[in-house]
Amino acid sequence: MTVRDSCDVLIIGGGPAGLSTAMHLQRLAPDLQVRVLEKAHHPRPKLCGGGLTALAKQGLARLALPWPLPLPHVPVYTVHFRYSDDEVLLRNPEGVFAVVHRPEFDAYLAAEARRRDVRLEEGVAVQRLWPEGGGWRVETTQGVWHPRVIVAADGSRGTTRNWVISRRHHAVARLLEAVTPSDGALAQAETAIFDFSAVRQGLQGYLWTFPSQVDAAFHCNRGVYDARVARRAPKARLVPLLKAAFPDFPAPEGYPLHLFSPFQRLARPGMLLVGDAAGADPLFGEGIGPALAYGEIAAQSIVAAFRRRDFRFRDYRPRVLVSPLGRYLIRRWMAAWVGYRLARYPVPMRIIWSIAHGLAALSNYATARREQTHANSSHQ
Ligand SMILES: Cc1cc2nc3c(=O)[nH]c(=O)nc-3n(C[C@H](O)[C@H](O)[C@H](O)COP(=O)(O)OP(=O)(O)OC[C@H]3O[C@@H](n4cnc5c(N)ncnc54)[C@H](O)[C@@H]3O)c2cc1C
Repeated sequence: MTVRDSCDVLIIGGGPAGLSTAMHLQRLAPDLQVRVLEKAHHPRPKLCGGGLTALAKQGLARLALPWPLPLPHVPVYTVHFRYSDDEVLLRNPEGVFAVVHRPEFDAYLAAEARRRDVRLEEGVAVQRLWPEGGGWRVETTQGVWHPRVIVAADGSRGTTRNWVISRRHHAVARLLEAVTPSDGALAQAETAIFDFSAVRQGLQGYLWTFPSQVDAAFHCNRGVYDARVARRAPKARLVPLLKAAFPDFPAPEGYPLHLFSPFQRLARPGMLLVGDAAGADPLFGEGIGPALAYGEIAAQSIVAAFRRRDFRFRDYRPRVLVSPLGRYLIRRWMAAWVGYRLARYPVPMRIIWSIAHGLAALSNYATARREQTHANSSHQ
């Protein structure tokens, strides 16, 4: 097998997590030899709702990338959270989130990374790896690499994280999705819907309807998220749930989502996990914002490791847990762990729903106050 150059850091996967790690490394330590290996070619297909929240917006700002993004996206100013015939409304005139088409978004990140001299090799798949001589031996479809440090950014279907995470903490959500052409009514209303009604049928999650734009045409991105945090509970039947809610739903595509747990390991000597390999938000299945944020923390840990010549990465998990990302994920993990366990019982669900009403009212009030203050100060 061809032996390729050895490098300091080999990033496996060129999605948001891998590209964010590479761009932060390029900024913090341009002298490090970093390679990103991506098995596909951008723009590659990626099943995803494409919802970019405030966390993703912050992640893009930390990468000095502009907002609004210079690519097609649909802003969402009002979100409807539904349970049976009741509804909680969340409004934000600055946008609750924005919806992008993932293949375009990831291709944009890849182009930005290249523009900043990140060495991204597309069409190269990692096949096997193991520790060797104080670093790693990595066999790919195009030769062997000998990096000092590996960043596992190969997503929910990747296997690199098996070197770090025990099966006990391996929580994986189920998602089904379809993107269909639409008349654009939802996009023009700048609205998205999260419907939790199916928790009564054992769903540990929701059905979503997002407006989206693909090839400059309006589309509708719909799907179902089942966190499966209560692993012993009976599994909801996802396709019948989708068909009942959306009679015109075509054959959906499925994808797993590896979820964050505060108890799992995030590193081992010579290897760190980022993005889905480390774990996405268990409450909503949000992973793009977390992927961007993991990348920055991983880059800081790697720079510190090369400075100290200590590659055990004992600091990485504590760094993640005390960071804004860690606090965000811990809150979401707690809400999912308690909420989805109780949600199938009517009385606890009513209590949870009342809390949701209260939180949305507080958030809408705070937003309105901010708007008012802003309007007053611009009049003065
Ligand atoms: C149906 C669905 C809807 C979702 N909706 C949303 C949403 O609306 N908002 C949100 O924030 N999150 C959403 N998510 C989650 C989000 O898609 C992920 O959290 C996000 O993609 C994580 O980024 P990543 O870089 O870790 O992984 P990925 O984006 O999966 O990237 C991993 C990359 O690694 C590459 N790779 C894999 N194996 C190898 C290998 N052996 N060698 C080389 N390369 C390899 C892959 O080709 C891929 O490009 C959704 C997920 C699903 C499944």
